[in-house]
Amino acid sequence: MTVARPKKPEDPVAHPVPCARCGSHYQVGAFWPDGAVCTYCYRAAIRTQGTCACGHVGVLPGRIDGSPACRTCSGVFVNVDCAGCGAEDEIYRHQLCLRCALAQHVDDAFTNPRTGSVDVAWQPIVQALKSMNRANSGLVWIRQAHVQDFLRSMVANDDATHAALDELPAGATRNHMRQLLVEHGVLPVRDELIATFESWSSDALDRLHSPAHRDVIDRYIRWKHLRTMRARSPIAHGTFLVAKQSTTVAIEWCNWLDAQGTDLGRAGQGDLDRWISEGPSTRLMVERFLSWARPARLCSSTLTVPRHRRGTATRLSTAGQADALNAALYSGALGARDRLAVVLVLVFGQQMTSIVQLRWEQVTITDTVTITLAGLPIHLPPPLDQVVRDVLHEPAHKQTATHSNSPWVFLGGRAGTHLQPGYLRNRLRPVMSTLSARLGSLGDLSRHTPAAILAETLGYRPETLEAHASAVADNYARYVAALDQQAASGTLF
Ligand SMILES: [Zn+2]
Ligand SMILES: [Zn+2]
Ligand SMILES: [Zn+2]
Repeated sequence: MTVARPKKPEDPVAHPVPCARCGSHYQVGAFWPDGAVCTYCYRAAIRTQGTCACGHVGVLPGRIDGSPACRTCSGVFVNVDCAGCGAEDEIYRHQLCLRCALAQHVDDAFTNPRTGSVDVAWQPIVQALKSMNRANSGLVWIRQAHVQDFLRSMVANDDATHAALDELPAGATRNHMRQLLVEHGVLPVRDELIATFESWSSDALDRLHSPAHRDVIDRYIRWKHLRTMRARSPIAHGTFLVAKQSTTVAIEWCNWLDAQGTDLGRAGQGDLDRWISEGPSTRLMVERFLSWARPARLCSSTLTVPRHRRGTATRLSTAGQADALNAALYSGALGARDRLAVVLVLVFGQQMTSIVQLRWEQVTITDTVTITLAGLPIHLPPPLDQVVRDVLHEPAHKQTATHSNSPWVFLGGRAGTHLQPGYLRNRLRPVMSTLSARLGSLGDLSRHTPAAILAETLGYRPETLEAHASAVADNYARYVAALDQQAASGTLF
């Protein structure tokens, strides 16, 4: 293998004869016509390829007047003849060069145990593996026990299909093989997000407590989500997340109805209001499920997800939007506290009334920042965390930290009070209407990744947010729920 090894220290006592090529005192690998050659120089010699002065092309292990020379000219005898392809090359094992050894491993791995030969279906991938650029990397990969096991079960399957591959153990090996099989035309291109949703949703069905609700959710998954996804394939990550989240919420809603001794068909507005008020804001996302269930006559046509008006928006002209946003969010015109409120409303879909009541005990600041809202810990990945740190460093809070220990994040004018929601709402109205206009211009939100939306609305760099994909995805689900809510009431802010 061509892995560079660090040289051991020289040992002139054990190896008094210096190497004829490098002059160092290492173990002697061979006595060649130009002298004793150390093991390091020996290895380098059998890997030296080129054209000898005599015209021979191949391995040039010898030295004549300091220049590499072929075996015939130099009188150096080493075994560099591959029994497989006949080429002169470093022998890897069993008298085979690296590439021939790789080919043998690939053939072995893909041989159908019943026929003793490689099935036609696998030929494209077999050829591709054999001819990969870095034969030594290929060998290291294919010789691993878990890869051997995986390939054996894959080949024993007979069928070269995505479905057959899905039956094999999930993991990096399966992903890598699937990618290769698609790349080399053995398997058709498949929308992996749709496939992931399919397998996720079939497991999710098992969480339903009653057969009747299981049937409803099964239909919801097939006729709403999968149908839409297939029509839009390849789907955006946002579409996948929203489908997963709204299915989860629908399942929780159905299970809750079971626990109350009722069902979807009989659920009343009171049930819905109670369920939503008793849980996290993600429950608002049930509107997505209801908007499918209502026309399908699976629930009362009058069920409505409660509306939370956020005041009347005063729309700015399109020309003024970008300026207002930049001025408000980034020029420093908006204080840290206001920016935190904007983030909580926009990213987490929180109500002004609960925002002003946020207590420091709900905030954990370490390397990262976590805010517990509605009993749900929400992780704020960088750069969203900075806005909380900024609030903490505002002069007002520095004082309270040493003096009165006010519990409120949004300190009011008088000692011991928090801000009034109406006050904050009025302050932020221009910013909010700008942001909502900007969101409106994005069109169908589910076609964008969460990071792209946050970047578009709050000015964060998408790369930064992608690094915290799962946290952003969680936030995004809440955010979409809030947006649905506001869109439904016709008053985005
Ligand atoms: Zn040497
Ligand atoms: Zn020669
Ligand atoms: Zn060979």
